[in-house]
Amino acid sequence: MKTEALARASVRALTPYQSARRLGGKGDVWLNANEYPCAVEFTLTQQTLNRYPECQPTALIERYAAYAGVKPGQVVVSRGADEGIELFIRAFCEPGQDAVLYCPPTYGMYSVSAETTGVECRTAPTLSDWQLDLAAIEQRLDGVKVVFVCSPNNPTGQLINPDALRALLVMTRDRAIVVIDEAYIEFCPQATLAGWLNDYPHLAILRTLSKAFALAGLRCGFTLANEEVINLLLKVIAPYPLSTPVADIAAQALSPAGIEAMRARVAETIENRRLLVDGLKAINDVEQVFTSETNYVLARFVDSGRLFKSLWDRGIILRDQSKQTSLSGCLRITVGTRAECLRVLDALRDQEGQ
Ligand SMILES: *Cc1c(COP(=O)(O)O)cnc(C)c1O
Repeated sequence: MKTEALARASVRALTPYQSARRLGGKGDVWLNANEYPCAVEFTLTQQTLNRYPECQPTALIERYAAYAGVKPGQVVVSRGADEGIELFIRAFCEPGQDAVLYCPPTYGMYSVSAETTGVECRTAPTLSDWQLDLAAIEQRLDGVKVVFVCSPNNPTGQLINPDALRALLVMTRDRAIVVIDEAYIEFCPQATLAGWLNDYPHLAILRTLSKAFALAGLRCGFTLANEEVINLLLKVIAPYPLSTPVADIAAQALSPAGIEAMRARVAETIENRRLLVDGLKAINDVEQVFTSETNYVLARFVDSGRLFKSLWDRGIILRDQSKQTSLSGCLRITVGTRAECLRVLDALRDQEGQ
């Protein structure tokens, strides 16, 4: 018997998440993972590595709650927002029985997490403007325990209409948890649903330090929800989800100076985004540039496959989204430094008419 045959059937059948890192490439301009382009420096202040860390470090939870405008009892910290996704599936979905629902095109980890846990994935593709198809969601809600909505949405970049989110919350009350993935909310902070938590016991919000806080390598994310939901997540979380250095650095990132530095990075990113969007609009091979509220831009190209490959060969690594539902011809470009934005535009201009 081959060892592989011992694995669960669902795992044998699984296509792992194609993270930007796994896809490889020999680039020197990395614009495929929506990271901040420059490293921020930190020093470790805790010298207590002989001890196990706190499961939910009090100082860190208090800082994030203050930053997000919620109570400390409404926050869980985890190994990235990705672990938050998995906690919801493990706390709310019985394998082989319950389902999760999401609305493609969207972030890939909702399906990967559900599939590895043996939980059914149900989809309600978005309308042609990438807004929610509420009628389709309602039709498919039987047996669904968790609905994932990403806003602003990755990879399309736009916010989900708040009226539709309200309607979704009304539709799902007492039926399913609605998890709003706000990984990019720092780029449009006025749009957060954190202020809605008191109105909806089944609302939860995912956050991360990986994007605007420039800490993708740290692996630190947060879930905001009401205490009843938080207590369920804390039942299934690992006993020590964050190492001591992670908690230490995350707390520094959430100090007043850390938050101020984050806001400066956001302002700079938005300025570079404008440069990138304006440049893209002037290029012939670009059919459409979509409005972005984030640190990336989605655009549709005349021959995206050829352009993706030719930029790849020049060391500029973008994210090909053309295989996703309704995204044919689309590439996603992370907003890098000003110099990186200019390099992408130069490379695309060089290709014009070829
Ligand atoms: C990057 C990203 C995440 C993952 O965040 P981590 O904290 O790095 O795990 C979750 N959701 C969306 C939409 C993302 O783009």
